[in-house]
Amino acid sequence: MPPSRPPCAERLFGRTGWLAGAVAVAAVCASAYGAQDAPFRRGDVLPAWTAGTLDIHQIVTGRGNAAFMMFPDGTTLLLDAGDAGDTEYDRLRASDADQRPDASRTPAQWIARYIRRMTGEAAPRLDYAVITHFHPDHMGIITGSEPLTAHGTYRLRGLTEVDEEIPIARLMDRGWPDYQYLPPPGDDAMFTNYRRFVSERTATGALTMIGAQAGSTDQITQVRRPDPKLPFEVRVVAVNDRVWTGRGSETKVRFPALASIQVREDWPNENLCSVALRIRYGRFDYFTGGDIAGYPVPGAPAWHDVETDVARAIGRTDVHVVNHHGSIEEENPFWLATLRSRVMILPAWAATHPSADVLKRMLSRRVYPEPRDVFVTLFRDATKASIGARAAQVASDHGHVVVRVEPGGFRYWVLVLDDTTESYRVTSVHGPYAAE
Ligand SMILES: [Zn+2]
Repeated sequence: MPPSRPPCAERLFGRTGWLAGAVAVAAVCASAYGAQDAPFRRGDVLPAWTAGTLDIHQIVTGRGNAAFMMFPDGTTLLLDAGDAGDTEYDRLRASDADQRPDASRTPAQWIARYIRRMTGEAAPRLDYAVITHFHPDHMGIITGSEPLTAHGTYRLRGLTEVDEEIPIARLMDRGWPDYQYLPPPGDDAMFTNYRRFVSERTATGALTMIGAQAGSTDQITQVRRPDPKLPFEVRVVAVNDRVWTGRGSETKVRFPALASIQVREDWPNENLCSVALRIRYGRFDYFTGGDIAGYPVPGAPAWHDVETDVARAIGRTDVHVVNHHGSIEEENPFWLATLRSRVMILPAWAATHPSADVLKRMLSRRVYPEPRDVFVTLFRDATKASIGARAAQVASDHGHVVVRVEPGGFRYWVLVLDDTTESYRVTSVHGPYAAE
């Protein structure tokens, strides 16, 4: 696949100075696309992270979400470690492989191996992990047959299984410390196991918990070799019933008081409460928000659209992870037109990801006119067949999606990696994109 086109001169330089801008862009393009000068080539192993670079990897396992990040100072973060297990979607398995790279290891084992490889460290550690919300495809289901930890009484799957291999120093979730706002049911084996993990790991001092606070920028920071001059920030944009307003660290309450909601079905659900983060490096903006929704089903309260408030807070965003795997209640037109993302990453693992309507909105030049590239981590054959010709308009239909932001945050690349083996070879190169 040829590299994506660079932004036009007018976007980079505005109307004044367009001639000088055009000349400059032509020079940049000539050097960027010259064969000898291209920093990435299809078929090569992904070059290692270097200091000053921001790497964000959306990892494919075929069983749920996982994103691994290396901040400019080398701080590491894992966002979700899903393992939904065998679900109804397995029946839709066609010729395509169900798990990635294959079913010989668990999703958590593949994730840990990926992290070990990318850090290049024999004994890597995760400075942070974040669980966006308490669902199996984001933290790992527990059925009762999983092995027990060597450190206590909890079982290993998803997040807990990653921690057993690569210790997590700090863990952010939406409930710590009291887990009082919309906790999962008490008989939920996965959540019970998670609470046991949290209490046992914090008791030994191995783990520090962080209860996500909307609006904050001091809960996730660079902790390895922080350089205060680097323009880098991680902001919690939304969690539970709170959303950042975009002004200072101000937040507002976005859901009615639970007791005032007459119909139990209308209560906010686990997905709507997801921890949502905006990562900013110089001019570069990235959003990832778990399974938040923005296109309520008919009859649902209007406040079930949480994308609109988040869009108002964050505004234009270079790269965003598509909400809730691109299911039917996500990516509303206001959200898409406000973020105007050049790159969208769709973390798909089931045959319902994405829905045909959502993909149509995402690709629509009437929703916003600028070009955009959509990367789907695992586009199942059954899904493509039901969507039809539009399914072929994505930039990539399988593979780990790596966003590599150059030092300073002015430009970034998207590199798709082979997900069928552990070769870590680049299967397509997209960019450079100018951060807006
Ligand atoms: Zn999910």
